[in-house]
Amino acid sequence: MNVVDLSHFLEDRMPVFPGSKPVKLDQAACISEEGYHELELHVSTHTGTHIDCASHLIQGGFDTGLASPDRFYGKALVIDCTHLIAPYRIPLEHVKRYEEVLKKTEFVLLHTGWDRYWGKDVYFGEFPVLDPDAASYLAGWPLKGIGIDAAGFDPIDSHDLPVHRIFLSRNIVLVENLTRLADLPEGDFMFCCFPLKIKQGDGSPVRAVGIAKE
Ligand SMILES: [Zn+2]
Repeated sequence: MNVVDLSHFLEDRMPVFPGSKPVKLDQAACISEEGYHELELHVSTHTGTHIDCASHLIQGGFDTGLASPDRFYGKALVIDCTHLIAPYRIPLEHVKRYEEVLKKTEFVLLHTGWDRYWGKDVYFGEFPVLDPDAASYLAGWPLKGIGIDAAGFDPIDSHDLPVHRIFLSRNIVLVENLTRLADLPEGDFMFCCFPLKIKQGDGSPVRAVGIAKE
């Protein structure tokens, strides 16, 4: 079994969405003084590689505490968007090409290659997003989740977050800030993004991985 790590490091002063509080990892104890090492994390539920649950935007939507772990893993498909030229919206015609595979897929991962800008200002600039028509089409399949290797599913200046709403209103998990999608196999593989069991959590940092048979 080959496990591919699709997560960014969670670290002090890591990139965060504009307007979010900086991430802090404080040293609560160290081996030379207390005899053990311990860190204190100060992070938002939407830090780094993370999921959005329906309760992020939808009243009464599922959350990290009540959701069954079954929601967070399943058979996955990568949609290659790397040939599209930024700034762009991933169009309906492109995702429709995957119709045959979508029938037997639980997670769709949008591979844009935008993760190469992680740590640079441009990362939170005009990152690629799904066209709302393409989002509605994908949300019509019985998916558990959809992920992207960029900062989010709606443009940085969006207030009403239409693409987030299309998926979250159907209880489809969103996975943001993925990385290394190019390292996944083309064929069948499993995707996992288990959140912390945060009571009434609207999201959670995750260790996202792809698991291939070979
Ligand atoms: Zn989020």
